Amino acid sequence: MSDLREDVADTLRGLAETLRHHRGLGLQEIALSRVPFPDPGDALREAERALQGCLRCKLSKSRSTIVYGSGNPRAGLMVIGEGPGEEEDKQGKPFVGRAGQLLTRMLAARGVGFDRERDCYIANVVKCRPERNRNPEPDEVAACNPFLTKQIDAIQPAVILAMGNFAAQTLLNTKEGISKLRGRTYQYRASVLVPTFHPAFLLRNPGEQYKRMAWDDLKLARREYDRLTGNSLP
Ligand code: URA
Repeated sequence: MSDLREDVADTLRGLAETLRHHRGLGLQEIALSRVPFPDPGDALREAERALQGCLRCKLSKSRSTIVYGSGNPRAGLMVIGEGPGEEEDKQGKPFVGRAGQLLTRMLAARGVGFDRERDCYIANVVKCRPERNRNPEPDEVAACNPFLTKQIDAIQPAVILAMGNFAAQTLLNTKEGISKLRGRTYQYRASVLVPTFHPAFLLRNPGEQYKRMAWDDLKLARREYDRLTGNSLP
C-alpha cells in the first residue's frame, strides 16, 4: 500500500514539474486530447467478427449458426444463459425458443419491468449449440470464455442475471447448485450478479414455488439495477 502511495506521489510530482516547465516556456493552455471510450456497439461488432467461422472447439462441427448475443449494447442488465438450443441455432439469436419466450415474460413481469430489447443484452456461456442440448464441456467453455468476457467488458452491465445452474456455476466458479446460489447477489467483475432458475427448468417444474423464487430473484435484480443506474420502474 505504501509503495502504491509513493508511486502516486511520484507521478503527481512529475506532473507538477512538467506543468511548471511548460508555464516557464510561456504556455498558457494545455491541449487535452480526449481519450475516447470505445463504443460498446463497435466493441461487440468487432468481437463478433473475430468469432466468425470459429473452429476453436468441437461445438463448431455440429452447429448451424454462431449465436453471439442480442439486445442493447448499452444495457444496464445482461442476461447470461447456458448455450443456444435448437431454435436459437436456427435463428442465430439467443433465447428465442419456448424457454426464451418465458424469459421475455419473466423480464417484463410486474415489479420487474425490463423490456428485453431496450433494457437488456442477452448472451450465453457458449455461442454454439451443444448436440441434444447437453451441458457444454469444460474445454468448450474455456474456448468460448474470452468472447463472453469481451461482451461483459464491452457492455459493463450494472447487473448480470445468470440463468440456471450452468451459467451461475460457470461464472461464479463453484459447484454449488442454483437453489443454494440464488436469492442473493455476488460481485462479478464490475457488475452485481444475480443467479436464478433457468426458464427451461421452470417449464419442466411448473410449480408455484419455483416461479415465486424466480420472481423474487428478478425483483432483486431490478432493485440492484435501479440502485446502480439511478433508474426506476416507469
Ligand atoms: N437456453 C439457453 O441457456 N440459452 C439460449 O439461448 C436458449 C436456451
